[in-house]
Amino acid sequence: MTEEAVCVVICKSKRGQAQSIAEEICQQAAEHGFTADISCLSKHDKYNLDSESRPVVFVVSTTGDGDPPDTALKFVRKIKNKSLPHDHLSHLRYALLGLGDTNYANFCNGGKTIDSYLQKLGAKHFYATGHADDGTGLEVVVDPWIEGLWDALKKAFSTMSTSDQQTLSDCTQDSNHQNASDQKKNLEVDLQLLKLSEVDSPKGKTVTSDSIATEIGSTSSVASLKESVPPLSESVLNVPALPPSYLEILLVGTENVEETVLPDKDGYFEVPISKAVQLTQDDAVKTAILLELDISQQEQVYQPGDAFDILCPNRDSEVEELLLKLDLQMQKNCTVQVNLLKNTSKKAAKVPLHIPQNGSLQFILTWCLEIRSTPKKAFLRALVDFTQNASEKRRLLELCSKQGSADYNSFVRDSSVCVLDLLRAFPSCCPPLSLLFEHLPKLQPRAYSAASSSLQHPGKVHLVFNVVEFPARPEHPARKGLCTGWLVDHVSSILEPHGTALASERPGTSALPKVHVRARPSSTFHLPSDPCVPVVMVGPGTGVAPFIGFLQQREKEREANQEATFGEMWLFFGCRHKDKDFLFREELEKFVHNGTLSHLIVCFSRDEPDAAETVNRPTYVQHNLILHAKNLAKILLEDKGCLYVCGDAKNMAKDVNDTLLEIIGNELQLDKLDAMKIVAGLREDKRYLQDIWS
Ligand code: FAD
Repeated sequence: MTEEAVCVVICKSKRGQAQSIAEEICQQAAEHGFTADISCLSKHDKYNLDSESRPVVFVVSTTGDGDPPDTALKFVRKIKNKSLPHDHLSHLRYALLGLGDTNYANFCNGGKTIDSYLQKLGAKHFYATGHADDGTGLEVVVDPWIEGLWDALKKAFSTMSTSDQQTLSDCTQDSNHQNASDQKKNLEVDLQLLKLSEVDSPKGKTVTSDSIATEIGSTSSVASLKESVPPLSESVLNVPALPPSYLEILLVGTENVEETVLPDKDGYFEVPISKAVQLTQDDAVKTAILLELDISQQEQVYQPGDAFDILCPNRDSEVEELLLKLDLQMQKNCTVQVNLLKNTSKKAAKVPLHIPQNGSLQFILTWCLEIRSTPKKAFLRALVDFTQNASEKRRLLELCSKQGSADYNSFVRDSSVCVLDLLRAFPSCCPPLSLLFEHLPKLQPRAYSAASSSLQHPGKVHLVFNVVEFPARPEHPARKGLCTGWLVDHVSSILEPHGTALASERPGTSALPKVHVRARPSSTFHLPSDPCVPVVMVGPGTGVAPFIGFLQQREKEREANQEATFGEMWLFFGCRHKDKDFLFREELEKFVHNGTLSHLIVCFSRDEPDAAETVNRPTYVQHNLILHAKNLAKILLEDKGCLYVCGDAKNMAKDVNDTLLEIIGNELQLDKLDAMKIVAGLREDKRYLQDIWS
């Protein structure tokens, strides 16, 4: 096959998902006889769409606000330019894969924005746009989209060679339809067809179907992570191609290794945790903890509404167990040198930037790699070659195969299985360190909203978090969220019980636990610059955090400007029980008392109604919004007020959004579509702002 060239352009986010998908496309391009270059959208000298004759594949991520990431802003400004002629990009043939999360408003908006401006400038799709949802698993769309890309590219090249001018819009079709038909063809053409009778063990021994069937067939009638049932256990499998290895790891010396310390780079500072207070009663369903960080020695300026990133390590016990499973316990203090494997066939191979040279093995596993991340199918495929036991090999192959997709989704992705869970479930699997370094993503910091104002607490910032608990499942033992689980252990020596006054001073700071943090400013989630503008805040549970910052700020501003006029402030708060998890109750009541907070409207979802109550009590914040619909509509539609929503993205933010549509529809007598337009307008004017997380 002759090599046709493709240009892959990525619009990266901080999490690096677009980057790794683009690398996967380049890798697979080579296997399909294409050459592909990756360029970042921000590197304008690396590509030139104005004269690009190769088909272009865009991989575009989206920020939480629905905007394209910073790397795309200049590019978007350029293609938005109204003075460009409508056929400016009519020569361009492209395909676009948008990445997003349906838990957030404006799903895949980064990709949609770029797609629509490219279309307006006359560029043509050679393959239908894909929209992948991180809420349900990017791979559900990404894998079939990439599979379908190759046939579409072949068609694009043949069309381009017969007539450069001919449009390729007839290649464009609904992505599901395209993917289904292309997948079918690709199954026959592109994927490695793996028959049960042809599974090779790593030592080259052929394992017969009979021997595997004896080992796996008889044990169970219920599928699990470890075992399958017919028809999957008897199917011929189509598995992805083996991802090429590209890293070479050297473990050097165990003596005189300098202790590796986290570098104060990327804007992180190590600061003392000057206070930790449990905000909930011991018998509350979730434990909420307030931390006070002493940032007085740093130049960490923040406004209420900003957040802070916390860098947390992987759990010692999990790192130790991983070392044990990899048979590397004795080498944990060795210095790690990471090089590119000579002659690797991986396209655009690079030593990952998040793995430092000469860090100790233990340090890298603790601070650099997200060892709890859910292994992708390519990782499972790579693990097969380092698994001795035939039935374990077969099960890993099933989990990464086309036929085993439902099992992958339920036993790996939805169960949040990590590499350690796999090594426990498949004890004959012992991958080399290089495989983990190639497949584990960078350990990400966790963000927490500032729950204070520096006017009220100079040199300090307060953060509030719920300790996340994951119950035991057949696939893994009970565990806590990585960061919140670490934080609660980390502050155990200074943790003060529920009811401790936040203002009380702790003597001495020498033995305080420390944490690496950096400010994560929000571009929009701040109090309005005009203090007269009325504000509605919706923040159940720990979603109240930024609003405590807003209220502290407003309280100080009111003290300093007693003659000035300030807009009303409404807070809708909710929790399970009035007496167990009503966070910041005293402080909120004080704000009401001194006039900072005009209306505090609370609901308790799990408290029994009083015997005297005759009407249904509101359970969730959205029920209270309905009860105050007239006020809310007036504030937003007549008084040009702002609505802020903070907290759980999965349920609360969606319910609040639906309620807002209902309120606006009812108040203005509009149907849902027109109500949606009004709400979209509020978002655009930055008067409906969300700070939500899942
Ligand atoms: P992780 O270990 O990262 O787990 C988190 C998620 O992974 C779970 O929600 C779940 O989806 C999945 N998961 C992992 N393992 C399992 C499993 N075994 N079973 C099921 N699901 C699993 N949080 C607050 O409490 N307070 C705040 O003020 C706050 N502010 C934020 C501000 C911003 C801008 C953002 C983006 C997030 C904010 N968050 C806040 C969320 C916070 O950053 C963390 O996501 C949260 O604390 C969980 O982190 P963790 O490391 O403990 O959990």
